[in-house]
Amino acid sequence: MIGSNARSQIDDLIDSMHSIGIGNTPFIEVDDGIYAKIEWMNRFGSIKDRPAFFIIYSLKESGDLDGKTLIEASSGNTGLAVSGIAKMLGVRSIIVLPENASPFTKRSIMENGSRVIETPASLGTEGSINRLKEMVSTDDFIWLNQHSNTKNSDSHYYTTAREMVDSMGVPSAIVAGIGTGGTITGIARYFKEIDPGVRVIGVQPAAGSHIHGLRNVSASKYRGIIDRYGHLIDEIVYVNEDQAISEIRRYYEKSGQLIGISAGANLYASRLFHERYRKIFTVFPDSGEKYREEIGPLI
Ligand code: PMP
Repeated sequence: MIGSNARSQIDDLIDSMHSIGIGNTPFIEVDDGIYAKIEWMNRFGSIKDRPAFFIIYSLKESGDLDGKTLIEASSGNTGLAVSGIAKMLGVRSIIVLPENASPFTKRSIMENGSRVIETPASLGTEGSINRLKEMVSTDDFIWLNQHSNTKNSDSHYYTTAREMVDSMGVPSAIVAGIGTGGTITGIARYFKEIDPGVRVIGVQPAAGSHIHGLRNVSASKYRGIIDRYGHLIDEIVYVNEDQAISEIRRYYEKSGQLIGISAGANLYASRLFHERYRKIFTVFPDSGEKYREEIGPLI
């Protein structure tokens, strides 16, 4: 039970989030009985705007950020979200990423005003996290820690799931990719409180899938959120890159919307389960623009 004081703090946070154009994204029927949140409509282009806002706003409100610089390791959507939100809230930020991260993402992060620190490509994400850990051992930096910070999952509990239920009620199943696990566990927690029978289906890349867009939903070894809330996931479905990409093309042909690769995987998985679960809620975490080369020709 959340006290009235805590509730109003959350409401203030959500109001501020809405005031800068994050949240309240469209929730539309993308296929028969399958509903998706269109998360590229968030201010900085993806579902990661929500957890980044929750974490940064809370740190700022508590005074923990005073005189300090925010730091996160991310080569993708989280980096974009953190840099943009930090700029809007007047906070300094640093993003650590492998040197082979997409040039578009690197440039956008720098244009948002973040400092970018590059680590060797050969060391991958782990190299970036290790570099970050060296820096946070001094007092000048505060680490968002999206993999373990439960505000990540809370952002989906308090906003993504609430928005879903407000417009479409309760589903028979939820389908979502698992990266940090914030999205799926936050939504799952909300719906299972309403109806423990809601089935929660996680999407993971099938073995041998290497494309960048599918790696977004590859649960990593940094798994604080999964350790805490992973029990809410009932079942895992594996989707390979051909399946995700052919789904993106199919949906483009049908709707004229270019969805991202994890969105393609979510839609593919949702359709697999649709015989069994008649009302499915999923998310389209970002658009396909960043992945044009991986997606290839659309027509
Ligand atoms: N899809 C995309 C495009 C993402 O950037 C991410 C986050 N890496 C995810 C899905 C997975 O979301 P989560 O971290 O909440 O599990």
